[in-house]
Amino acid sequence: MREITVENKLKYLYALQQIDTQLQEVQELKGDLPAIIADLSAKVDELKAKIKELNTFIKQGKIDRDNADLEIIELAEKIEKYKSQQLQVKSNKQYDALTKEIETAEQKSEKLEKEMEILEGKIQVAKTDLDTFNAELSEVSGELDERQKELRELNKEHEKEELKLQHEREKIRVRVDKRDLERYELILKAKGGKAVVPIKRGACGGCFNRVPPQKILEIRQNSRLYVCEHCGRILVSDEIVEKSLALT
Ligand SMILES: [Zn+2]
Repeated sequence: MREITVENKLKYLYALQQIDTQLQEVQELKGDLPAIIADLSAKVDELKAKIKELNTFIKQGKIDRDNADLEIIELAEKIEKYKSQQLQVKSNKQYDALTKEIETAEQKSEKLEKEMEILEGKIQVAKTDLDTFNAELSEVSGELDERQKELRELNKEHEKEELKLQHEREKIRVRVDKRDLERYELILKAKGGKAVVPIKRGACGGCFNRVPPQKILEIRQNSRLYVCEHCGRILVSDEIVEKSLALT
């Protein structure tokens, strides 16, 4: 494999930077939309889960209440039966036994009534919450639809440009050494999307700190990869800038 010259390496890195800057500009046009959409989607999922939970609770609550109602009716019937039996018994012992049965049934019935009152209250609260969440869901869903539509339109508008840039990026990327690429991407991430910068009026084009004249002379030789001693970005000469423009 042919050894890649430092000059070519710098050219490709700067060309990659140019493409990435343009891709960043396209992303910036989309602004916060992707993040907003992710947030809204999460909110929709959360509301749907809450609504499902409430519906399940209300459904089960109704079943429990119907069962309790039946049991209360049955208890009332039992109490009636015991009372009529009391009129027919011969001994006090039998009479007292029935009184005890009646008391037990009455207590059970009262307990159920109380439980049902509490459950009814909970169901009412759940229904109010359900209304609130449903209203919120329709609002959030509406906003999500709108934002997604916005993003789709923006994507459509910039699709061609993005594809072209991605294609160009790929062509350059395959020519860059793997380790250089890793280094480039690390700096790019750490330094707000700017990893390779030209020297402008004796200063680093990234952080604008002065570059010593001796170093500028060395950088102009394009024979070594230099980084800014202040920000760590890769510095390139004007010659590299010009030559790399011909690549893209
Ligand atoms: Zn710098």
